[in-house]
Amino acid sequence: MVFELEKIVRENIKRLVPYSSARREHTGNARVFLDANENSFGSPLAESYNRYPDPVQTELRERVAALSGICPSEVFVGNGSDEAIDLLVRIFCRPGVDDILVCPPTYGMYEVAAGINDVGVKRVNLTSDFELDQAAVFAGLSENTKLLFLCSPNNPTGNVMCREAVLEIAEKFSGIVVVDEAYIHFSSQTSLTAEIKRLSNLVILQTFSKAYGLAGLRVGLAFANAEIITLLDKVKSPYNVSQASQQFVLDALDKKSEVDHTVAQIIRERDALADALRRLSVVTQIYPSEANFLLTKFTDPITVYNYLLGEQIVVRNRSNLQLCDGCLRITVGTPDENDALLRALKKYESGTYEKSTVH
Ligand code: PMP
Repeated sequence: MVFELEKIVRENIKRLVPYSSARREHTGNARVFLDANENSFGSPLAESYNRYPDPVQTELRERVAALSGICPSEVFVGNGSDEAIDLLVRIFCRPGVDDILVCPPTYGMYEVAAGINDVGVKRVNLTSDFELDQAAVFAGLSENTKLLFLCSPNNPTGNVMCREAVLEIAEKFSGIVVVDEAYIHFSSQTSLTAEIKRLSNLVILQTFSKAYGLAGLRVGLAFANAEIITLLDKVKSPYNVSQASQQFVLDALDKKSEVDHTVAQIIRERDALADALRRLSVVTQIYPSEANFLLTKFTDPITVYNYLLGEQIVVRNRSNLQLCDGCLRITVGTPDENDALLRALKKYESGTYEKSTVH
């Protein structure tokens, strides 16, 4: 199977004339701006939020490209990486005809984006140790499968997918392989970003929501060859990333060493938390994690989940997902938060808590 971008882009997207915003039609400076129906009197805030933001986030793309060793034309900036997931489905999958392939248990938004767009979902489960079942993936791909979503490190399992297996699939698949690297900064593996130069059907997703601690700003990234980025830009809403978000992310990039320091702390805390959880008798398994969370198997997950809620500690119940029987997903917190969690679980084990809090 040979990948040809032309063949898999929806016809309506090829024909689409994108909305031409004022800030795209005039990109230079001027003395007076009367072209975008903005409020020329300013905003109630000190900043120039009365103006529309740069629609293509020029400065941010340049900075991200330089940091990632690629060209600005290979970078898309979205309203969270969730936006890129949705746009990819809309660009490549014909509603009611095409499908995507996902490998559960994995991040739920791939399926939701497909569902919103009336696009089918094929599921090829990970193996029992959460590895990619490469043969089953190949068997599951068909002519109408336009997108394969892989998540590495995977949410909710925390492990990375075998690099060689992912690359081999991308080399052979005639559709797009999306590798979601939302948690890559917590991993010992290097990003697959450099591979976009060689593999024109590879899209890498990253986000400022995790390692950079900026989930509230909603800024995500897609890296791919320039033709795919052009398509994402064609379909996105004109001003998809706010001025404030662009500016704050640029400021955060200036503080990259602080971010690296925090990431190192989170990794240390993750490993310490795993060791401490392992010693609890209610915990039967902790899956190895290269992310900022631990998929943890409990003897009685629902009771523990509800008990923790009663203690004002919220974790994520994942016990209803395939292959995640008995599992709660625990985000690594600050040392104080992790201590609070461990204290609560020890209290649970010793039975010294108020039974009425368990629902
Ligand atoms: N991918 C994965 C694997 C995630 O876990 C998440 C968020 N939970 C996202 C993407 C979405 O990230 P963003 O905040 O950039 O939309």
